[in-house]
Parts: sequence; structure tokens; C-alpha cells
Amino acid sequence: MDIDILIYKGLILTPNSHTPYLNPGYLVITEGKIVDLAAGDPPESLLRQAKMTIDARDKLVMPGLINAHTHAAMSIFRGIVDDLPLDNWLKCIFSLEKEFVDEEFVYWGSLLSGIEMIMSGTTCFADGYFYEDSVARACLKLGIRAVLSQGVIDFPTPDVPEPSENLKVAENFLKAWMGHSLISPAIFAHAPYSCSSKTIKGAKALTRDYKTLFFIHAAETRWEVEKVKREYGETPISYLYKLNTLDEDTVLVHVNWISRDEIEILKDTGAKVVHNPESNMKLGSGLSPVPDLLKEGIIVGLGTDSCASNNNLDLFQEMDSCAKVHKGFRKDPTVMPAEEVLSMSTCYGAKVLGLEERIGCLEKGKDADITLVDLNHTHLFPIYNPYSHIVYAMKGTDVNTVIVEGKIIMENRKITSLSIQDVIENVILLSKKIRKWRREWDSNPR
Ligand SMILES: [Zn+2]
Repeated sequence: MDIDILIYKGLILTPNSHTPYLNPGYLVITEGKIVDLAAGDPPESLLRQAKMTIDARDKLVMPGLINAHTHAAMSIFRGIVDDLPLDNWLKCIFSLEKEFVDEEFVYWGSLLSGIEMIMSGTTCFADGYFYEDSVARACLKLGIRAVLSQGVIDFPTPDVPEPSENLKVAENFLKAWMGHSLISPAIFAHAPYSCSSKTIKGAKALTRDYKTLFFIHAAETRWEVEKVKREYGETPISYLYKLNTLDEDTVLVHVNWISRDEIEILKDTGAKVVHNPESNMKLGSGLSPVPDLLKEGIIVGLGTDSCASNNNLDLFQEMDSCAKVHKGFRKDPTVMPAEEVLSMSTCYGAKVLGLEERIGCLEKGKDADITLVDLNHTHLFPIYNPYSHIVYAMKGTDVNTVIVEGKIIMENRKITSLSIQDVIENVILLSKKIRKWRREWDSNPR
């Protein structure tokens, strides 16, 4: 057997219900897949056969994290407008996008975000934006896995100036990337308040034809609920249900405002949810009743949302916030235990993205998407329970090495595919024009 990488002497968190830990353990990667993992030290013969070995003593070896919702290119808008409610925030963001977003902006912004995600242990993310071909280009450059959704919305956008063309552009994107190993294409209808029922139904029909995922922001704010109720006589989730757009391949992002009856709808249809606690808190949008959704067996993944509303992509920080906000809100420390919160960023995230056969845990036959975390930090001593450390004590900067489909994309905190400095210089160049716009916005907000 050819062995590409042998990781050994590590604390391996699978986390599989039969054998959650191997300590120490070893893991064998061949042709992008995990072909073996076991407790103890590897036999000498394996060490001799391996083309590359990673001595993982003092490291936690865990599944790569899955960020189930972001808009990667928006990292160039990080901190441009803070402390506004969603409707006013969007007004500013939409006019910024009209002014500045083009293929190059999306490429450099996605590279910046991709680097940030890799450096904080994320191996797969779900994106929705414009010019998704440029996001794909950035992902392939970095070697990170992604579910990329071409955005559709009923007003002119930088990549689709004529909104009646948006489904055609989305379909072309699906055709271009269908069947790719690292990139899964999908469609993202922006929201029930920004897309007509015709656009939403058309987008969902396309994703059904291509057997791929349909994403939509839904029930994010009270403002949205009232607007949708006024226009369609229904609250957002019931409205999407009546449009026949909810099924197991639908991903509802946010779901902060949901009734008991609508929870039943999600149960019956199998629609999935992505929770973005930090973005929701920052925009004051509301809080999804995630403990209730999980109790009902609804699959919920974790996302950061964009850097314009978070303002970082560190899933370790997001997990910490996720666990604590629900405990605090419910005055109940037993809700959202660390193990379940980690599942939202690993195996549940994989299910949300339809990738559960390939990623989400460390098991024989799964793709080798692996994050190695350096445990040799004072804030990580002593270790009684790795789940507790991951959710409550680790930081993204503790991540040491990241592997996607058996390829090392960060080694000892060095991104292997490109010069970070080059990306930063290009982002600074783009931000100079935006800075001028920002000064004008401050003096005359539109
Ligand atoms: Zn979003």
C-alpha cells in the first residue's frame, strides 16, 4: 500500500460515537482518503512506507471545521459599517457592492478570507455571492473545499446588471462546476424580501433539476417578518413552504424568527438550518431557537456570515459564542453542550452541505480533511476533555497544520500555495478606494 501521509503520536478526536478518542493514535492518508486510523503507535513498516510523516505529539488531530455560511469576498468590507440594524446596514452594503465589486475584488477578497479560514482550522465553507467563478478560482489556488452558490436577487448586481438574467447566470455556474471534487456549485436566493416568488421558485426548480443545494437567508429579522407578512400574508418560513421550496436540499440561513408550527414544517420537509450567532448578535437581528431545533432532529450547521457583520471567520470563536449565548439567553447552562456545538461545525455542517459521505469526521474511507491544533499553549493546559477545550478555550491561532483531500494546505502556520503578503498588498490597494467612499458616506449617508 502506498502511504502519502502518516500522522502519528497525536491525540486524535474522530469524533465518532464508538471511538471518540485515540490517544495516542495514528492516521494513514492515501490518495486523499483516510485509509486507516488506530490507537497506539504505528507499526515500523508503516513508518518506513510513508512518503511523509507528521509527528503529532502535543497536537490535537481533529476533523477540519465546516463554515456553513459566509460571503467570503466581503472581508474587504470588514469594519466598513458597524453598529447598524440589518436594513440600514444592507443599504450601505448594497451601494458599496454596486460601486466596488467586480471579478478582481471577489478574487482577492475570497483569497483573504480563504487564508483566514485555513489559518483558523476551516477546511470547507459555504459561500453565496456574486462572481462565484472568482471565488472558485481563489479556493482552487488555496486548496480549500467549498460549496459555492451563485447569488440571485431581483435588482441589478455587479455581475448580472439585468435581473431577468439571474437564473441563466446561475445555471451556467452550475453547469461549469458540477462534478468537481473540491467545488460543489449551488444557488443562493438572497431573501424572501429581495427576491420575488417567481425568482425563488425558479431558483429552487433549477437546483432540483441539477440535484444540488438551494440556499436562502430566511426569518433573520423582525423587519423581514413584518415585510413578508404585509406583502404575502405569511411569515417567511410558511411563505417558503407554500412556494414548495422546502425539502432536504434547502438550506435556510438564520431562522431567528420561527413559530412552533414552522418548526414542525422544517421537521416534515427535512430543510436544514445554518446558525450564525455572532452576526445575529452584532446586527441585533434576533436569536435562532437552536436548542429546540436540535431537539426536534432538525440539522443545524454553524456559520460566521461575512466579515462585514461578524467581523472575523474564526469558527473556534463562533463555537464559543454559540454555546454561551444560548446558555445565557435561556438561563440554563445545560443547553448547547460543547460536544453538540462541535458537531454543528463538523458532522452536522457536513450534512447541511450534503457532504456527509465525504467529510465531517475522521473515519476510514472519508476524505482526509484534517486540522491539527498545537496543544502546547498555556491556555490549553491541563486537558481533561478535548471537546471542552475546542469550544471554550482554543483560538483559531492555535491551529498548526491543515490538510484538505490529503493535501497539506497549511504547514506549521505557513500557507503552502501562495504569498500572504501578495494578497494583503492587493487588498490594501482595493481598500484605498473604499476608504474615500466611506468618508463621503459619513458626511452624507444615503
Ligand atoms: Zn449571509
